Amino acid sequence: MSITFTDGFGAGTFSLYCNGEARQDILQHKINRVRVIRRADGYYAQFCLDVEHKEPGKYTGQVIGIDLGLVHFYTDQNGNKVDCPKFLRRSERRIKQHQRRLSRKFRKGIKPQSQNYHKQRKRLGKVHLKVQRQRRDWVIKLARCVVMSHDIVVYENLQVHNLVRNHHLAKSIHDASWSLFTRWLDYYGKVFDKVVIAVPPQYTSQDCSGCGYWVQKTLSTRTHQCPRCGIVLCCDVNAARVILIRGLEMLGIEWNNGTLGHKGTASVPSTEGTLGEMSTAVVDGQPDTVSAVAEPRTRIPCP
Ligand SMILES: [Zn+2]
Repeated sequence: MSITFTDGFGAGTFSLYCNGEARQDILQHKINRVRVIRRADGYYAQFCLDVEHKEPGKYTGQVIGIDLGLVHFYTDQNGNKVDCPKFLRRSERRIKQHQRRLSRKFRKGIKPQSQNYHKQRKRLGKVHLKVQRQRRDWVIKLARCVVMSHDIVVYENLQVHNLVRNHHLAKSIHDASWSLFTRWLDYYGKVFDKVVIAVPPQYTSQDCSGCGYWVQKTLSTRTHQCPRCGIVLCCDVNAARVILIRGLEMLGIEWNNGTLGHKGTASVPSTEGTLGEMSTAVVDGQPDTVSAVAEPRTRIPCP
């Protein structure tokens, strides 16, 4: 296949390489526009098509509240944690290595840098691209998996630019994939006909998931300990629960620690899918604590 641009920039004709599936799509559907993108390993043409993408989703009766974090990529309300895979760390190390090699070839004040400098520059670009793609691939697959296995997904709508102001490179690396992740959650929500909700992030880590009491803590405090109802939880799990409760509130469903009120049929035992080593014990012993104080949590509706 070949593609000819007639938009007045005089780019001319290019050969177009694509797999059979993409070729089918391009030939069958109406093309709205074409964008050409330059990457370190070549040029790509992006076709914007009108296609309705729906997949039959299975309804599992499961709900999930997601707390995005730095220590773990995310934590859900049952204490299940997902970490960034090790291979991403390894590939970040590769970037550093290539960056070092590049700066060793740099000569100050010399106008055209050496051939070897430019070769290395291109190599670095490709490494960056590979890392970016690995991360993207992982994040998208994770988002798909989360939406497929839950009916309601609630996440925290982080204002990433506020966070970046805070500190450290780790954050800015994470934040890119955070927003990528939530964007793909939204997308898969549409594809599988599931409910995906973003809730405002205010005080999700400070409020108590058991009674709604405001427990002030700093970022370094890793456990949530409520003076009012006596709940002790990992702070990420607490935040995930607060997020889930808020999201379900928007839908008019009450989440009474593991069981969905209102619908009654779908129940999520909080001990199910236990992963956390230390957090399990806490989660296990926890329902009693909450049901004892379940009453004060019911919020007074605004008049
Ligand atoms: Zn409490």
